[in-house]
Amino acid sequence: MTRRPRVELLTLGGTISSTRAPGGAGTGVVPTSGAALLAGDLAPWLGGVDLVPRELRLAPSPSLLLDDVLAVAREVRRAAAEGVDGVVLSQGTDTLEETAFVLDVLGVARDVPVVVTGAMRDREAPGTDGPANLVAAVDVAASPAARGHGVLVAFADAVHSGRHVRKVSSTHTSAFTSAPWGPVGHVHERVPHLPLVAGPAPVLGVPPDALAPGGAWPAVALVGTGLGDDLRLLGSLADLGYAGVVVEGMGGGHVAAAAVPHVRAALARGPVVVCSRAGVGPVLRRTYGYPGGEIDLLAAGVLWGGMLTGAKARLLLTLCLRAGLGTSRGSGQGPGDEALRATFEGLAAA
Ligand code: ASP
Repeated sequence: MTRRPRVELLTLGGTISSTRAPGGAGTGVVPTSGAALLAGDLAPWLGGVDLVPRELRLAPSPSLLLDDVLAVAREVRRAAAEGVDGVVLSQGTDTLEETAFVLDVLGVARDVPVVVTGAMRDREAPGTDGPANLVAAVDVAASPAARGHGVLVAFADAVHSGRHVRKVSSTHTSAFTSAPWGPVGHVHERVPHLPLVAGPAPVLGVPPDALAPGGAWPAVALVGTGLGDDLRLLGSLADLGYAGVVVEGMGGGHVAAAAVPHVRAALARGPVVVCSRAGVGPVLRRTYGYPGGEIDLLAAGVLWGGMLTGAKARLLLTLCLRAGLGTSRGSGQGPGDEALRATFEGLAAA
């Protein structure tokens, strides 16, 4: 007789766990229902799986912390050591792509499938998508086909790589895309089909205790820019306690010519990353030669944001700094900065 797959369900809150607060009519929904309730709802659909729920937090995802993500990483390692077949993480969609990215960069899915999901419609909304997303996520997590491919995201019957997925709609139930790549698979009739999953992408190679709980996280600012903006706030960020900054530049990773002195001022005080606000496609390296173009910025010492959104680049730079990379500060040319550049840009390209 074959053993039923055992899947651990870790929950952090979000819309998938949200209802109107008791007695709070008219005040909007909030996370109210933890892992046990989710698992209870799903019981009729998951007869073939032993689902072990574990509520870690009951939070709206904009208020999650990197410490919460590290707590998830520890739980995944524990569950893998206990021999579970897969882990599902449910959380709010607002920062789902950030959690999935960090878990993937930390390599937590090396030993066990990790599948992240959420919902766009709360538990009381007509046509709520939470149960369907959760059942699909459990189906993927229990599938041997999901092993060894890094963190996956199951949403609206599609399966995305945790490295590339991002939220592109604030309301649609198909809110996630992996453009310019695509989903790596789909779930049809409860069966995961994952023809496009690749091997795991490179991970942040730091000793586990470099990210031990309890330490302070370096603050990294995320700054947008646009037509006519000289980015004058950049030079002041270090005085506010920021250890680095990510600029979401225009197009291929560009800022206004008037912003270049302020980018240089920020570089004198810590690392600066340039990403693209376009959302699809890389920061360029060798196309535009004008002041504030990518060639100019990279020559000044700015770190190349590659395929990363600003939000993901901010987290990657935070992890790198916390792990002790880039401590030489300043021109971007010191030995510590070279280690930071090699690590950051290597992961930004993945
Ligand atoms: N709108 C969010 C969600 O879909 C709320 C959150 O991220 O917690 O879950």
